[in-house]
Amino acid sequence: MTMLLPKFELHQPKTVADAVALAKKFGDEADYLSGGTDLLPNYKCGLNARKHVISLQHIDDLKHIDARNIGAGVTLTEIEHNTEVPAGVREAAGHIASPLLRESGTLGGNLMLDNRCHFFNQSYFWRNSLGYCLKADGDRCHVVPRINVDGKSVLNDKVCVATHSSDLAPMLIALGAEATFIGPAGERTIKLNDFYYGDGIERFDRKPGEILVKITLPEWASNVRSGWKKLAPRQSIDFSVVGVGIALELDGKKVKTLRVGLGAVDTTPVLFDFAKQDVRKDAHHYLLVSPMLGMPDVIGQELTDELIDKVAMHVQTQAQPKLNVPMAPDYRKKMCGVLTRRLLTELRDGPTG
Ligand SMILES: Cc1cc2nc3c(=O)[nH]c(=O)nc-3n(C[C@H](O)[C@H](O)[C@H](O)COP(=O)(O)OP(=O)(O)OC[C@H]3O[C@@H](n4cnc5c(N)ncnc54)[C@H](O)[C@@H]3O)c2cc1C
Ligand code: SF4
Repeated sequence: MTMLLPKFELHQPKTVADAVALAKKFGDEADYLSGGTDLLPNYKCGLNARKHVISLQHIDDLKHIDARNIGAGVTLTEIEHNTEVPAGVREAAGHIASPLLRESGTLGGNLMLDNRCHFFNQSYFWRNSLGYCLKADGDRCHVVPRINVDGKSVLNDKVCVATHSSDLAPMLIALGAEATFIGPAGERTIKLNDFYYGDGIERFDRKPGEILVKITLPEWASNVRSGWKKLAPRQSIDFSVVGVGIALELDGKKVKTLRVGLGAVDTTPVLFDFAKQDVRKDAHHYLLVSPMLGMPDVIGQELTDELIDKVAMHVQTQAQPKLNVPMAPDYRKKMCGVLTRRLLTELRDGPTG
């Protein structure tokens, strides 16, 4: 079946200020467009398309990259090949989609990628035959059809558990990235970890009309070992069904910093900060992974195989994959532990930096 783009008016501002002014003018009728590799396929499926599309492709201020700052308009290919940024960020960027898509896809689009679900990423025809769902055009969830409210099992007309599938988000959260936005109310910078807080529909804390301008890594991120591993049906093209990004700093053989970013198993990326300090401020979705619950003591201890095993088992125990992307949830849960164990062992035994 041919899927055509719906009609929309394309705007092509050259500055952030002009783009924000357009977003303010058109409100809910407008979407930002960067590389278009996520937004346009969704439009073709009839998913929440808008009448006005504001392209960010001609805004040079979004395209700067150095060791600690990455502009939202920098392409995935540029990130993959930039030797200044931490290894884990290069690896995560280099495993997204395919070489062609990485030429167009950008950091901004990747961090604001829509959540994915078997019942959502389908043609209009397919969704129509099922009666739609909460995330587009419908009033119920097919993955979690009932929820418990005040001790009673009721039809789920509230909670969407669509899976967060960005590869860069968990890696950047592990490295302590901050995100800077400019919108009608001015500029603000927040921890990327605090940006993601919602359910599969609301997803994140982007105020109306805000543009992501850049992410900034803390100074310590340049000195840690970092890496990325993902599980996907095929090595290329496919989205992650588990993604693990780790930032590790050792003092001799002892752990000084250990932060694991887990992707594609919940409605948001999940941070496990083993220093037990970096905890997401507000999280108001219903089926939350609890990274701090039963977290083993790791900081200051020698990173032995046994300790790596404890860390991997903790991540695996907390992961709660849903049956809404490829591969069975119990297999994906197990792979959260397997990938964490493999990556942490590689980072411990490999070269520093
Ligand atoms: C076949 C296929 C395979 C894929 N595989 C993967 C994968 O393995 N891993 C993965 O992570 N992704 C994957 N993707 C998704 C996508 O290609 C990438 O995530 C890409 O980085 C998205 O960037 P973009 O610039 O094209 O986003 P766009 O499509 O332009 O935008 C995506 C969303 O972000 C918003 N947005 C973009 N930039 C900004 C900004 N600066 N400020 C505010 N809002 C903004 C847009 O409004 C839109 O809602 C895949 C896509 C396809 C089609
Ligand atoms: S999880 Fe979300 S996208 Fe999937 S069926 Fe439920 S409401 Fe729809």
